[in-house]
Amino acid sequence: MQVIPRTVLKQKPKLDSSLGFGQYFTDYMFTMKYTKEEGWHDAKIEPNEPVKFDLATTIFHYAQGVFEGMKAFLQPDGSVCVFRPDENWARMNRSCERMCIPQFPAELAEEGLEELLKLEKGWIPSAPGTALYIRPTIVATRVMLGVHASTEYLFFIILSPVGSYYAHGLEPTKLIVESYYARSALGGTGEAKCLGNYAASMKAGEEAEEKGFDQVLWLDSAEKKYVEEVGSMNIFFVIGGEVVTPALVGSILPGITRKSCLQILRDRGYRVSERRISIEEVVAAAENGTLDEAFGTGTAAVISPVGLIRYQGKDYPINGGRMGEITRMLYDTITGIQYGTKEDVYGWRKYIG
Ligand SMILES: *Cc1c(COP(=O)(O)O)cnc(C)c1O
Repeated sequence: MQVIPRTVLKQKPKLDSSLGFGQYFTDYMFTMKYTKEEGWHDAKIEPNEPVKFDLATTIFHYAQGVFEGMKAFLQPDGSVCVFRPDENWARMNRSCERMCIPQFPAELAEEGLEELLKLEKGWIPSAPGTALYIRPTIVATRVMLGVHASTEYLFFIILSPVGSYYAHGLEPTKLIVESYYARSALGGTGEAKCLGNYAASMKAGEEAEEKGFDQVLWLDSAEKKYVEEVGSMNIFFVIGGEVVTPALVGSILPGITRKSCLQILRDRGYRVSERRISIEEVVAAAENGTLDEAFGTGTAAVISPVGLIRYQGKDYPINGGRMGEITRMLYDTITGIQYGTKEDVYGWRKYIG
């Protein structure tokens, strides 16, 4: 693959837990372009520098774009692994389908990612809980106003060394149930990892933060009755020994961490259900003492214990605000596979180079 070198490399930040999330970006990026005539072409690695766009470019006006989030981890022997990248490429192409973006060759994206990671290995932090976050994105680049699917696209992968997603690390999070705003509706784009979903969720997120909460717990948009997800994480509850997560009804993002947790739980003999779960059922369980645990799952935050849920002005603490046993088991299992300290029984580690 063609590599366009840069003359001056960036000054690296301290690669430890003070990194925060998504604040620093590495020296290079992978890019490829799409035009109707040429298909996907011009795949290369080039300096990650500001790019110029005409202000009439489709992405700025109609948000026709999709993205992914993955992580690369430094292994104890110095090698590098990415967690289940094939799942991300497949999901990204499903998101493209929903957003009228042409399918891209996953093998080429993977090759680009691997070349990029080999070049940027020095940016992968090694401190506990840190990783190199990978952000593949596709944006519509045709210069035209008029609501039509673009005929030109830019695919890029940028890399960011990260610490923990939440400022308070593994401390249990506080969620507030959103009973007014909706993130997505049936038939909408909730199932796709597309840019606009996040714009739609910001108002509720800001209001939650002002009230001292970490994130919003979304309900279905039609009835405001069934729990959906957390916006950047899928949600799980442990109620009376049953591990429950909302079924993928079409308005929920099909998380790869969610899927991985379900497999681990089933293989270990836990009682697991993917079903509709109403917020009334959750708070009733909190009240009668059967809501043992709640946690969110997602690449950025991995497994994030939930310590408290507020619904209709009332606070429901969970497990005394502490991380539960199943949450801990899943956290240890998944991070153990990611960081190479546990056997990779499922073949989820993809070695680079
Ligand atoms: C990315 C994302 C998730 C988590 O998916 P993972 O594949 O586990 O990272 C959950 N919800 C939403 C809305 C997301 O965008």
